[in-house]
Amino acid sequence: MTTGRCLCGGVQYRVEAPLEPVTACHCSQCRRQTGHYAASARTEMAALRIEGELRWFQSSPQARRGFCPVCGSYLFWQEGDAVWVTAGTLDPPTGLRLSHHIFAADKGDYYEITDGLPCYARYSDGEAL
Ligand SMILES: [Zn+2]
Ligand SMILES: [Zn+2]
Repeated sequence: MTTGRCLCGGVQYRVEAPLEPVTACHCSQCRRQTGHYAASARTEMAALRIEGELRWFQSSPQARRGFCPVCGSYLFWQEGDAVWVTAGTLDPPTGLRLSHHIFAADKGDYYEITDGLPCYARYSDGEAL
């Protein structure tokens, strides 16, 4: 079982299902939300147990982003039955590895992606860069 929390500890969670490898998303929404880019791991929303006061921001018609209203930590990106848990909020050891980059075509102009992992222009089932 995996556990995690926000910076202030007001929101704590556990994941009662496996997490997929970590995806780095460089889209403009993730960059604005995090200040850089988002690293998160997919699991099933039904497996996520949240304690404390979490706020949701509806960031697009189909997706919402969960954050702590006290410290601002960005914890979850949810779309339907799936949720991506931000890797930086997981308690170590996570046992996870970064696997690939998405929305690399939208990345910020102040850095390069140099780790040699697969890069996709947008979604991982689309054009590779
Ligand atoms: Zn907090
Ligand atoms: Zn994104």
